[in-house]
Amino acid sequence: MQNSEIKTTCSYCGVGCGILVTNDPKNGVIVKGDPDHPVNKGMLCSKGMNLHYVANDISDRILYPEMRWSRNQPLERVNWDKALERAAAVFSTIIKKHGPDSVGFYISGQCLTEEYYLVNKLVKGFLKTNNIDTNSRLCMSSAVAGYKKTFGEDSVPIAYEDIELADTFLITGANPAWCHPILFRRIEQHKANNPKVKIIVIDPRKTDSALNADLHLQIIPGTDIILYHALAKRIIEKGYTDQDFIKNHTENYQAYKALVGASSLEKASKLCGVSVNDIKLAADWIGKAKGFLSLWAMGLNQSAIGVDKNTALLNLSLLTGHVGKPGSGPFSLTGQPNAMGGREVGGMANLLAAHKELSNPIHRKEVADFWGVSDISEQPGLTATEMIEALNSGKMKAIWIICTNPLVSLPNSRAVEKALENAKFVVVQEISHRSDTVKYADLLLPAAGWLEKEGTMTNSERRISYLAKGINPPGEALSDVEIITRFAKKMNFSGFDYATTEEVYREYTSLTKNTTIDISFLNYNRLQNEGTFQWPVPDYGHPGTPRLFTDKKFYTPSQKAIFNIPTAIENTSEAPSSEFPFILTTGRIRDQWHTMTKTGKVSRLMTHISSPVLDMNAIDAYKAGIQSGDIVVVTSKNGTVRVKVKVSNTIRESVVFLPMHWGKQLDNDLNRTNNLTNILVDPVSKEPDFKYTTVAITKY
Ligand code: SF4
Repeated sequence: MQNSEIKTTCSYCGVGCGILVTNDPKNGVIVKGDPDHPVNKGMLCSKGMNLHYVANDISDRILYPEMRWSRNQPLERVNWDKALERAAAVFSTIIKKHGPDSVGFYISGQCLTEEYYLVNKLVKGFLKTNNIDTNSRLCMSSAVAGYKKTFGEDSVPIAYEDIELADTFLITGANPAWCHPILFRRIEQHKANNPKVKIIVIDPRKTDSALNADLHLQIIPGTDIILYHALAKRIIEKGYTDQDFIKNHTENYQAYKALVGASSLEKASKLCGVSVNDIKLAADWIGKAKGFLSLWAMGLNQSAIGVDKNTALLNLSLLTGHVGKPGSGPFSLTGQPNAMGGREVGGMANLLAAHKELSNPIHRKEVADFWGVSDISEQPGLTATEMIEALNSGKMKAIWIICTNPLVSLPNSRAVEKALENAKFVVVQEISHRSDTVKYADLLLPAAGWLEKEGTMTNSERRISYLAKGINPPGEALSDVEIITRFAKKMNFSGFDYATTEEVYREYTSLTKNTTIDISFLNYNRLQNEGTFQWPVPDYGHPGTPRLFTDKKFYTPSQKAIFNIPTAIENTSEAPSSEFPFILTTGRIRDQWHTMTKTGKVSRLMTHISSPVLDMNAIDAYKAGIQSGDIVVVTSKNGTVRVKVKVSNTIRESVVFLPMHWGKQLDNDLNRTNNLTNILVDPVSKEPDFKYTTVAITKY
């Protein structure tokens, strides 16, 4: 590409903003928001508008394969053939000796759909293990399980255009003003145009999203379900329910009504730390809404009761009949750019491609036949944290990590370090030496990054975009599709003879035929020439499907949505104690992305917040004799962090907040937030409990 403009999509969050790219011989890559894109209409947030720095600066890039024969030797440059022959030899030997479940793959919500599909095919179809999981496990797996339990399938029903049609927003466990900025700009603009629009935010912190709200419920962490039930009780008592919808299109309402009817607003007020009047006001706004959107993200999902939190929130949409109609619906905010695409192709240890279920023998046979393999193991694979445990116990011997930095992003970093030290063989397929995980690689494979390869992604509203290749990858870096294809051939697997990435896409999309996510008629040509589409797209001329469930037919056996009763209403995380009296919650800051391997090298993005800071309530700080700027030691039963304090009134008493971005290599060991967090997971989604770790704080 030289000077001609190409259309692509931002590689950061799940909003999926359209970007126009030119490659100027003098200035390199130049980016700007695509004014014709339905998502962002030309806008970009700070991260997106600085993507050109990431593309132009290759100083940190891994340029050629490197390998070492033993841990006490340095990595040495090798050619691709030698690198992949070694990978094939080691994986074959380990599988032969210890069985297929002794190896695993850990991939990423930043992988493109074709890459995701191909790795899943390789692992589940050919290596004969389901040990493939993704960092989306840390992000959306509770939402996936919640949708399945309520609607029968993992189906986000809304379109972004519902923002401009809604009159009441409930933002809970999310800070879209920082983490999904362009969507939040749309909400702000809609509110500015329609001052009667109500925004309710539920969050223990007074975030920028909360500052823009009409009502902020500053909840005690972990009490979300109690609050949702109190809202439901008030909605039912005031007669705001949609009885026609409930009667004709839902199941299990009476049990739910009895459950929430037994709750008490006064008790909820005490447990949640929110006034009865505020609970009533929020319930009245939701109950009277003509268009009600609930938006949530990691604040709900990253919890030991994350799935129950999700279904309890979804129940509010069922109760008020706000599903499948304009301006209404549950709207999970995807963290990563292609977490949704990964879910579509079965990129998790318990899923199969095209929303088929690993637990379903008919589905396993369909996919096995499609791939031309004898069978797919019925044994669910190990999830992200389970793979770490399996490496530590010796059950798993080798791991292949693609496009993610678990040393910083997984909970309990010390356990992750030990796991990778304990592994017999670690492959790291990565773009940047800035990833902390690189130092554990026995085999380091240089991957192409954003703009250096083609493929597709799906954003939070099911919108599929084609991402064109604009520049060549540096050095000997290859696309992930090419790397996986070459490895499969070294393993002598048939079925990996793809001449182009488009052939991988065509194969996957043909598997979606006659499913609820049918895109078998959506080809590269349409995506390149007509733009983006929301699935399903079930025939050639089909314009895509902005909204699901408009016919009120759900994907459950009865075609009715289900009111789920939570197995746990109260939080099951470890409660604060005299030893660890504070609740640590973690999250993102406005200008950084994940573990900073990309955004951390853009100096402009470091000006907002340049180092990790612990947010601490002013009363807590006063009692402990701590002032803003003091260094404190934060300790949990897992480890320690040493960090500067910002004393503020924006966070609840007894709660502290740390950003999740900083890692060991980029600063120092004691900045890494996940030194503190637990490997406690939701029992259904297996998503970690990042939002609730009990800690002690002492002045350094
Ligand atoms: Fe990229 Fe998300 Fe920002 Fe859009 S909102 S520019 S997708 S980071």
